[in-house]
Amino acid sequence: MRETDIAVIGAGPAGLAAALACGESGATTLLVDFMDAPGGQLIKQTHKFFGSERQFAGTRGIQIPDIIMDQLSKMPNVALMWGTNASGYYADSGVLTLEDGARFIKAKAKRVIIATGAAEKPLAFENNDLPGVYGAGAVQTLMNVHGVKPGDRVLMVGSGNIGLIVSYQLIQAHVEVVALVEAAGRIGGYLVHAAKLRRAGVPILTSHTVVRALGEETVRAAVVAEVDQSWQVKPGSEREVACDVICLAVGLTPLVDMMWQAGCEMKYVPALGGHVPVRDENMRASNPAVYVAGDAGGVEEASSAMISGEIAGISAARSLGFEVKEADARLAQLKADLAAIRSGPTGEKICAGIKCATVCGGEW
Ligand SMILES: Cc1cc2nc3c(=O)[nH]c(=O)nc-3n(C[C@H](O)[C@H](O)[C@H](O)COP(=O)(O)OP(=O)(O)OC[C@H]3O[C@@H](n4cnc5c(N)ncnc54)[C@H](O)[C@@H]3O)c2cc1C
Repeated sequence: MRETDIAVIGAGPAGLAAALACGESGATTLLVDFMDAPGGQLIKQTHKFFGSERQFAGTRGIQIPDIIMDQLSKMPNVALMWGTNASGYYADSGVLTLEDGARFIKAKAKRVIIATGAAEKPLAFENNDLPGVYGAGAVQTLMNVHGVKPGDRVLMVGSGNIGLIVSYQLIQAHVEVVALVEAAGRIGGYLVHAAKLRRAGVPILTSHTVVRALGEETVRAAVVAEVDQSWQVKPGSEREVACDVICLAVGLTPLVDMMWQAGCEMKYVPALGGHVPVRDENMRASNPAVYVAGDAGGVEEASSAMISGEIAGISAARSLGFEVKEADARLAQLKADLAAIRSGPTGEKICAGIKCATVCGGEW
């Protein structure tokens, strides 16, 4: 049995920021990730971040884990476990079960910060199990982590920031993006990303969807069609598009299994991607030993994940009596930064979702 003040599950941007805040407070901190290296989704984000300097604006996503790890590795009170799956949380005893491929380990933590991220949503259409149909995360991993081209001609489905950014990265890898289809009547992500695609000659077809993949062994084409406002296919609008990859960027859903296990009050909030824990403004769940951070609390993006991670880390440490330098000023600044990130037109939906998931009055 390992004992720690705080366990952080997931070393993506949210978990790394949370562990850093916990480590700075002096709390013994155990940071666990299933993967062999830290970073979560950041390990494939080759572009420079927007936003403020505090959230690494101007730095490439792939560089951020190293910067944070450099600080964490100097903290003797922070222990790191890679290649380790957190498979269970026993709310009555505060015991976590961890599995590192060879051993089962128990860890008892006074506080747990759950920063497990999100999983890609699939899309139902005929033949969607043909090889060549990928999630955008898988395409990004193949290209940017393993240096493997997923195919030669890609149909992208979904115009959120992930669909737009992964399309542009495909073009940079000399893959042709034959079109991007979006069922909604307008582009979901930032127009600055869409403009780059348009300049590269990629047709962005709003009010369109994919209805069928064609091919015997692998994808050889897709059938796309126009949809009405209720996303019903308009008869006679179907047409074939030659491609060998259909890439789905149709949303993510929070990975919340451990929060169900922890007995946290959960709420279905479509604007945040699915079921999320009800939390207070400091990311504390209804089980007072549990905090949530990043996409696990609602799908947003890496900058907001880092901010919510830091808020959760500071709050969890303080709840155990550890002193965090200028904690109140830092929390106020972090909350202002979050509000700024969510202030754009795409932030409206998120703000409504967060309001729905936050306990009445902002405090338990
Ligand atoms: C394809 C794709 C492209 C994106 N592009 C951008 C972008 O360009 N810019 C941007 O700002 N945002 C982007 N995002 C969003 C951004 O990556 C996420 O919002 C952000 O990574 C969320 O951070 P997180 O720490 O909450 O989760 P993640 O980064 O997903 O990290 C979660 C971590 O938890 C670990 N984990 C999960 N379950 C367990 C468990 N049971 N035990 C141990 N470890 C576990 C995982 O291995 C992972 O390392 C993209 C997302 C995707 C999917």
